[in-house]
Amino acid sequence: MPFAPSAAGLPEQGNPSGGSSKPRIPRYAAALDFDALWQEFPPPDEYFEGPYQRTRDELRAIQNDRFLRQMKRAWQVPFYQQHWGSAGMEAGDIKSVDDLEKIPPFSVHDLRAGLEKEPFWADYIGIDPATDEPMPLIVQTSGGTTGLPRPMIFTPRDREVMNIITGRRLFMQGVRPFDLVHVTLSMGLTNGGVLAREGIWKYSGAVPVMAGSGAQTPTRRQIDLIRAWKPQHLIGFPAYLKHMALVARDELNVDPRSLGIKGLIAHLGVEDRASLEQLWGADAYDTYGCNECGTMASECSHKTGNHVFEDAFVMEVNDLETLKPSPPGERGVIFITTLFKHAAPMIRYNMNDVTSWATTDGCACGTHQRSITKIYGRSDNMVKLRGVNVFPEAIGAIVSEEARSNGEYVCVLESNPAGREDMTVMIEVLDDSAPRDSIERDLRMRLKEALGVKVDVKAVRKGELDPLTGLSQTSKIKRLVDRRVAAKG
Ligand SMILES: [Zn+2]
Repeated sequence: MPFAPSAAGLPEQGNPSGGSSKPRIPRYAAALDFDALWQEFPPPDEYFEGPYQRTRDELRAIQNDRFLRQMKRAWQVPFYQQHWGSAGMEAGDIKSVDDLEKIPPFSVHDLRAGLEKEPFWADYIGIDPATDEPMPLIVQTSGGTTGLPRPMIFTPRDREVMNIITGRRLFMQGVRPFDLVHVTLSMGLTNGGVLAREGIWKYSGAVPVMAGSGAQTPTRRQIDLIRAWKPQHLIGFPAYLKHMALVARDELNVDPRSLGIKGLIAHLGVEDRASLEQLWGADAYDTYGCNECGTMASECSHKTGNHVFEDAFVMEVNDLETLKPSPPGERGVIFITTLFKHAAPMIRYNMNDVTSWATTDGCACGTHQRSITKIYGRSDNMVKLRGVNVFPEAIGAIVSEEARSNGEYVCVLESNPAGREDMTVMIEVLDDSAPRDSIERDLRMRLKEALGVKVDVKAVRKGELDPLTGLSQTSKIKRLVDRRVAAKG
């Protein structure tokens, strides 16, 4: 049937050519007052000519103002009405950002509970297609290792603030107009690659080269591209950036240091920065972000810790047991409060990530925003072994430095009837025919030094840990197997 422009089949809404009625289909550029947005959240390079150097008092005043607006919005969201209401909280109880600690926190378990009732327009999103004005929305998800991935919906303003912050982070880490940024994160349901592309494209002046993971563009082809196009920056997971360098060096006979990469933009956590920098002959920068909120903190070129973007977030670091604020230098779990989100505002979201506040104030870059050191691991992965907190991630970082291992590992936790708990770190060897007792002995010593508690080490054949870690089946790899007798009690 030929296309016939007519009003037939459309809901009646006055004269379509009359000009007085608002378009019913939302338009992205009209959905936002960009000038007002840029005033509120200045992008680079404007951001670095004033707002970046705000004093603590100025930052706190901005946070307070934005926090109260965010609370007002959160009270419209069914999840918070229920979560706060059942704790006896009422609108008006919270009078300033100083009252933050009075608000009950929540975690990913609460998000999952909301998704069980409604798998897409969950109660934490706060948007109802039946009653809300249409607006341009997009969805990105978590990794989804157990069950379906968790959807997070973004309005234009939510998204643009996240893009501006990506732009700021890239500027801090040396990205400039006409640079090429080679991105090895995949473009799909998860947010990482898509968000990187938007931020680079819209707020850095650089050009995103979306190579994707090795599954999308084979690693050798990625090296060919880098040789030909000469990007200045690489974005990716540290393990993959390391793999790329080794493919270049060992398989293609290309010294990665000859490729002209200046910056490696990654979430480093406890990964070995020095070895990555040495491989590429480039600076590696740390960043902390999540699917729900984008980048929350990142390093500047001085590498003095991750500066929190405090005009967009209130970050807390709270003691793992008491959940009271941790002093600088002491480890605690991150709670995040967003100051800009319309869809799914996050108020005291327990990220389950463990970090500590940097012990020094300020940075040579001129910011007074607070800094976190690095992410030590996930608190739900943390093990208390004979009084010492142990993170499998930290063990992995040490195993990856061992040249006789391929870096694969899993921590097995067991207890005997007397209640003594022991951990065995199982690792895979690189060469199946090499003797294993010396690598086991050396690693036992190194781990004891690094962790402050004794663990056993057992070396096994390549691929033998697969059934335990799920390496070949899933993207989220299991590094801890808990076989303690009383573990479930
Ligand atoms: Zn700095």
